[in-house]
Amino acid sequence: MTAKIIDGKAIAKEIRGDLAKQVAELTKEGRQPGLAVVLVGDDPASAVYVRSKKRACEEVGINSLVHRLPQETTQKELLALIEELNQDPKIHGILVQLPLPDGLDEEIVINAISPKKDVDGFHPINVGNLHIGQEGFVPCTPAGVVELVKRTGVSIAGKNVVVLGRSNIVGKPVASLFLRENATVTICHSRTKDVAAECRRADILIAAVGRPKLVQQDWVKPGAVVIDVGINRVDGEIVGDVDFEQVKKVAEAITPVPGGVGPMTIAMLLKATVEAASRA
Ligand code: NAD
Repeated sequence: MTAKIIDGKAIAKEIRGDLAKQVAELTKEGRQPGLAVVLVGDDPASAVYVRSKKRACEEVGINSLVHRLPQETTQKELLALIEELNQDPKIHGILVQLPLPDGLDEEIVINAISPKKDVDGFHPINVGNLHIGQEGFVPCTPAGVVELVKRTGVSIAGKNVVVLGRSNIVGKPVASLFLRENATVTICHSRTKDVAAECRRADILIAAVGRPKLVQQDWVKPGAVVIDVGINRVDGEIVGDVDFEQVKKVAEAITPVPGGVGPMTIAMLLKATVEAASRA
């Protein structure tokens, strides 16, 4: 068997096409969605992410405003900007690009964003809403993972989902989202006794660890769906957490890296911004 390759790029493009129509409607009603992106300091990777978010916003017609602040910005100055954006009726989503330079407290900064504009879904109120199953914003990468599985036509209810990784930005929210979809969810982490054995029970396996090619062919049940969130740089090449060439021989469907989960993250950010504007 050779797995179906889940084309995250194509699916994300489809989502952006749908969003562009919704944005056009909202704009006609005088409610053009607006996303403020705050970038502090000069981390080159962050600058690249911010540029691609701005480009994606422009493509679907979302008004995006990038606030570039110098490395030496104080916490007080950053909080003042966030408060201004919280009050701005033209801004529906606020995203502070992480990591922040030393001396700025990410937790305090994230907590200052209005939960109604927290399109990244990192505010404790949105984290809580996800866990108790109430409406709110959900972190973009986990939302993209579930959307990929759904759009591949895979049913989730009753399936064994195994998540590798328990971070607050990927592992835990992914697990919550699959639980919400009525899957039976197992979370594995660095202290799990036999990760390979846990993985072999998975109908849907999500790898979000950050270890190149950790998931081997004999970790995967034949016919499983494998979603690789990992992004690892090895000898100038980007590889995932899954040994793609080997695992595709046994999986039913698998995401490539790059071109799988990555493009979905930005598509989900745009979707959240449009939702925020519709709710406002
Ligand atoms: P993290 O370092 O915060 O968390 C890694 C998790 O993996 C931890 O919970 C740890 O307990 C667990 N872990 C470590 N070794 C393990 C092992 N041998 N078996 C099972 N679990 C193990 O990382 P993160 O922020 O959650 O990101 C994970 C990966 O996803 C990284 O490669 C990151 O670059 C990538 N990522 C991709 C996107 C995207 O848009 N595609 C977005 C966010 C993160």
